[in-house]
Amino acid sequence: MSQLSSATPTRPKRLSTVDRWDIETDIAIVGFGGAGACAAIEAADAGSQVCIFEVAAAAGGSTALSSAEVYMGGGGGTRVQRACGYEDSTEDMIAYMMACQGEYGDEERIRMYCEGSLEHFNWLVELGARYKDSEYKERAIMAPTDDCLLYTGNEKAWPFREIAKPCPRGHNLEVEGDNGGPMLMGVLTENVEKRDIRVEYSTRALTLIADDNNSVYGLVVRMDGEERNIRARKGVILCAGGFVMNQEMLQKYVPNIAEAGNIPVGNPGDMGQGILMGQGVGGSVIHMNQAFVTLPFYPPASLTHGIFVNAQAQRFINEDVYHARIAHHALQQVDKRIYLILNHDDYEHPAFLNADVAGTGENIEELAEEIGLDPQMLGHTLDFYNKNARSGKDPLFHKSEVWLKSIEPPFAALDCTPGSGVFYPYFTLGGLDTLPTGEVLTLEGAPITGLFAAGRTACGVPRTASGYASGMSVGDATFFGRVTGKNVAAQTSH
Ligand SMILES: Cc1cc2nc3c(=O)[nH]c(=O)nc-3n(C[C@H](O)[C@H](O)[C@H](O)COP(=O)(O)OP(=O)(O)OC[C@H]3O[C@@H](n4cnc5c(N)ncnc54)[C@H](O)[C@@H]3O)c2cc1C
Repeated sequence: MSQLSSATPTRPKRLSTVDRWDIETDIAIVGFGGAGACAAIEAADAGSQVCIFEVAAAAGGSTALSSAEVYMGGGGGTRVQRACGYEDSTEDMIAYMMACQGEYGDEERIRMYCEGSLEHFNWLVELGARYKDSEYKERAIMAPTDDCLLYTGNEKAWPFREIAKPCPRGHNLEVEGDNGGPMLMGVLTENVEKRDIRVEYSTRALTLIADDNNSVYGLVVRMDGEERNIRARKGVILCAGGFVMNQEMLQKYVPNIAEAGNIPVGNPGDMGQGILMGQGVGGSVIHMNQAFVTLPFYPPASLTHGIFVNAQAQRFINEDVYHARIAHHALQQVDKRIYLILNHDDYEHPAFLNADVAGTGENIEELAEEIGLDPQMLGHTLDFYNKNARSGKDPLFHKSEVWLKSIEPPFAALDCTPGSGVFYPYFTLGGLDTLPTGEVLTLEGAPITGLFAAGRTACGVPRTASGYASGMSVGDATFFGRVTGKNVAAQTSH
């Protein structure tokens, strides 16, 4: 008979109170999204007995909702990069990713990711992931075609182009449009099913089972309406996604991003339960105030010819950077009013943005009046930008010459003000503090025996919207899911 549970993620069940084990396995994995699937495949291939517990009725999580672009390269280039004429270097990839993550960057983790990236590409291909040897050359968020390679970050924009040789590293599966997620999860699920991996769907992990020193021995799940004790001899791997659907955690950690109007994106399981379970046994969390947040204002690429201005009618960013870097800076502006000012000829309505035209004008005064900005300041901003753009320069933000063009009347202004109805989607990047090999760390930096995490439950490679590139999250979840699966398989039972 179904019972109400007293189990709470942050309150582990004590080992001394466990009177029986309902299931025994080497490794228990919480969550069957990208990270969980990859951890399971590697652990099973290394000879461990694996059991996955998934709260939903099917595999997928946010990985299946995503475009499943994966950020890969280095080592001379993936098969696709080489076929498209790019010779990527691991050191360039590391330098780029370190610059992107700035003060948040974890060098050991980034180095490991970049050095293992070619092998990761080959592994995905071996599992059955299909990537076409072709490039999508337009500035876009994802390839609308079945082409593979595209620039998905800030590689060609200042200051990054001066730090590392630009190279496209976004890999899009051979499927048209935004359909990569179901395809990637299809491949991973098929590979889990091919192996001797036990999967329990419609089963929620409730809390961990730990001794009085917080060493983890297993977990409690609710299966068929009953609470079951699961023994995991080598360890539990938490791959339960982030916390973008948990209002309480959002208010606590990212109130600035979760404010009215911005849209959380993810699956209903993104409730932070993996993070809370880790905290319950003394796991530390880091960068909980960081999220991927974006303003998907392109395509059409022509909008990049415009300039973003704030409530003071001043620019604040080079407009040729990745859309999340723009959102990150837009949300920092005083008064938070943001407009994209364009020449009429470059205006084409953006595909995803849901932005209104805030105003138009035959001259600066008219435009300034319609959008409520100071006409003198707006005039100064446009004059300064135009004068320099005509000679191929942007002394303030170094926008690439290819996007520099003076903005002449008639003007249009798109309203990109947060909360105005414009689309600012976000998901969380903070999570459990782990070693790159998946061990969850305490506040003192000591690994917790028997506890591991990967994907958005952990704080991984991507740690800030300002340096995010599409493909870094699925890339991180799948790559470090694998690393963690292999590592836990190599543990001895405890
Ligand atoms: C619309 C969209 C597009 C995106 N596009 C991209 C992209 O192209 N490239 C990219 O890199 N990133 C992208 N992302 C982000 C990326 O998809 C995710 O950050 C990443 O896939 C997370 O993987 P994960 O394995 O950590 O979590 P998930 O794939 O979400 O898997 C977690 C699983 O855990 C389960 N779970 C949660 N709690 C419990 C519990 N208590 N018990 C049992 N099971 C539980 C969930 O049901 C879920 O199935 C996108 C995200 C969205 C929403």
